[in-house]
Amino acid sequence: MPRHDADLIIAGAGCAGLSALHFALQREPDRRIIVIDRSFEPIDDRTWAFWGSARSPFADIADRRWDRLRVRFPTWNSTQHLQRPHAPAPTNRRTYMRVRRRDYDAEILRAAERQPNVRFVAQDISGLHDDRNGGVVSLPEGELRAPVVLQSALAPPPTNRAEVRHPLRQHFGGWEVVTDRPVFDPNVATLMDFDTEQHGAASFVYVLPESPNRALVEHTTFSTDVRGRDFHRQCVDGYLDRLGVGSFDVTRAEYGVIPMEDAPPAQRWGQHIWNIGTMGGRTKPTSGYTFARTHTQTQHLISQWAAGAALTPQPDAPRRFAFADRTLLHILHRRPELGRAVFERLFRSTPIDDVLTFLDEGSGLRADARMVAALPQLPFIRAAAAEAVAGLRSCWSTR
Ligand SMILES: Cc1cc2nc3c(=O)[nH]c(=O)nc-3n(C[C@H](O)[C@H](O)[C@H](O)COP(=O)(O)OP(=O)(O)OC[C@H]3O[C@@H](n4cnc5c(N)ncnc54)[C@H](O)[C@@H]3O)c2cc1C
Repeated sequence: MPRHDADLIIAGAGCAGLSALHFALQREPDRRIIVIDRSFEPIDDRTWAFWGSARSPFADIADRRWDRLRVRFPTWNSTQHLQRPHAPAPTNRRTYMRVRRRDYDAEILRAAERQPNVRFVAQDISGLHDDRNGGVVSLPEGELRAPVVLQSALAPPPTNRAEVRHPLRQHFGGWEVVTDRPVFDPNVATLMDFDTEQHGAASFVYVLPESPNRALVEHTTFSTDVRGRDFHRQCVDGYLDRLGVGSFDVTRAEYGVIPMEDAPPAQRWGQHIWNIGTMGGRTKPTSGYTFARTHTQTQHLISQWAAGAALTPQPDAPRRFAFADRTLLHILHRRPELGRAVFERLFRSTPIDDVLTFLDEGSGLRADARMVAALPQLPFIRAAAAEAVAGLRSCWSTR
């Protein structure tokens, strides 16, 4: 009999790992699960914003909700009510929500700590491999084995991954501020404020307000060269100054770099090992949103594991969405000076609600065609043609 240390190993206990743990405990509370991370100390380094309905995973622990979103450009802006039902729960209207990592971790870990069959291992994972009977996780103190390993800690090997041609990064720095003057509208979240210096890339400010004096203000840039915290801090300071906030206190800061690549990593590492979350390619390449997509993937894999079925990857969306992502990445990479104009055309022609449906890869062909027709024609035609040719080349080279 093969020796397994658990029925499931979750390697990496960030967003994706804890999501898998949450769904596994919902489905199979009595099975043996090992969760490994280099640390389980509480951490407050990020907040996750996403859109969905009241029934979306973790909507119940969202500490803020907005049903009005704003986009802003130097000569035009628009504030819109979210009105569409959220697709998987058609009776529920969509809202934009925020979950704090500290609440998410506490909620899931508190429930898991009550389960005697869940073991937490605080060690640095040095490698992963398959053997005949399961996935093996290498740790300084030895190896752990399970028939299924869901991992979000290590970058998957580059084999079976297509060449990345547009290695963009979304890098950002956000500060939660309490301002002297009341300048924020707590009912409206600013998705993108492009009325700011572009720095030779696509740059915008994102604002999640809590009260007239309190908000998370985040400066974001899409580019290949990653800029550090100081750069983003200067941009946020300049933005707050333009808003006329007066003096302000910083209560929390976050900084992040998210891949925006045309060839996301595969979901499968090996026969028994699956990549989840960012390592499993769950980041939407053109927006960086990962949170909601990760839960869809972990729910899918865990329901197969719970049923004792062979695991299969979460199915891909229709190919036109990946093609649209690649085309937009092509423009942001090769013609960064067009970034702001592209987003402006997109939001002038398409309601924010419909852009969110498109980002969810849930829009219909006709809506997509209408949206694409409104974008700057020549650069898009050129970018789409280049991407189509590159796609054909990679098909031929893999034959
Ligand atoms: C500051 C920030 C804000 C973000 N905001 C949003 C947002 O608003 N909306 C959204 O959709 N997405 C957002 N994202 C993107 C994405 O949702 C997050 O990065 C998310 O945390 C990804 O989940 P993950 O589980 O794949 O990776 P992580 O959450 O980073 O988890 C990986 C885990 O693996 C562990 N680990 C790594 N290496 C090892 C090792 N060798 N040994 C042991 N353990 C290891 C780490 O300690 C970590 O706990 C944000 C990202 C950042 C950085």
